[in-house]
Amino acid sequence: MAGVALRPARTAFHGLFSRLIFPDNCRCCAKPLQKLTRIPVCQECLDLAACPIEAEYQCARCRAPFLNPETLNDDGICPACHAEPEGLDYAWSYGSYDGTLRRLIHVYKYERVDTLAGPLARLLIDALPRDEQFDLIAPMPLHWRKQWDRGFNQADLLAREVADWTGIPYEGRLLRRVKASPAQAGLSFAARQSNVKGVFRVRRNSVPGKHVLLIDDVLTTGATAASAARLLRRTGGASRVSILTLARADRRFAWKVGPEPIYTKKRAARAAGA
Ligand SMILES: [Zn+2]
Ligand SMILES: [Zn+2]
Repeated sequence: MAGVALRPARTAFHGLFSRLIFPDNCRCCAKPLQKLTRIPVCQECLDLAACPIEAEYQCARCRAPFLNPETLNDDGICPACHAEPEGLDYAWSYGSYDGTLRRLIHVYKYERVDTLAGPLARLLIDALPRDEQFDLIAPMPLHWRKQWDRGFNQADLLAREVADWTGIPYEGRLLRRVKASPAQAGLSFAARQSNVKGVFRVRRNSVPGKHVLLIDDVLTTGATAASAARLLRRTGGASRVSILTLARADRRFAWKVGPEPIYTKKRAARAAGA
């Protein structure tokens, strides 16, 4: 019996021991890491992810990038912002939701590598406009069930980091998500509007006259954030509501839209051997 009881303990000890001596592989590119680190991602991947969005034409409000100026109206506003005048004042994003940045966000969010919050927040600081004044920072909330499943709110850790770096007051409980809404991508404008109805709660007059900066990891259609902005203005009394995200769905790469390919062990091994 003693031998049976000992086996799991020995295996666990061996696992811990080998990890101390041999650092893990990079969770992004699967190449072996050269040194022990709290962040299981190699420097090369962190550098590749630091690729800010570049566009010749951008919407003056939501900063969505376009290949040509014809989509924007005379005020430089895109059709989505034109259709939703009460939405966000501004939406800034560091990069496109693509390539290494997309993989890094997946590692942070779905593989729960919360030590990435610091390096990722540095990208948010880079994307923060220097000529704007904000009164407070608030994370986009998750529904409690989703947060329970994930173990943390990825937006909340980022918001705390940005607040620490900038000194802008952090308000973690400003918005509450009371409804778990299904994904917005692929829905029509009308369907997105009804999908986000009643998703959030905010206390009456909780942010009178304030410019609120919401923080999230990814901006997809922007409909959820726009619904939060409307509520913060109408019920919370905010004067302005903007959002800062790590990455945004980039319509210029529409041909790439689709589920993230599963990063299998086979592929990881191939990448490591390359
Ligand atoms: Zn790597
Ligand atoms: Zn726009």
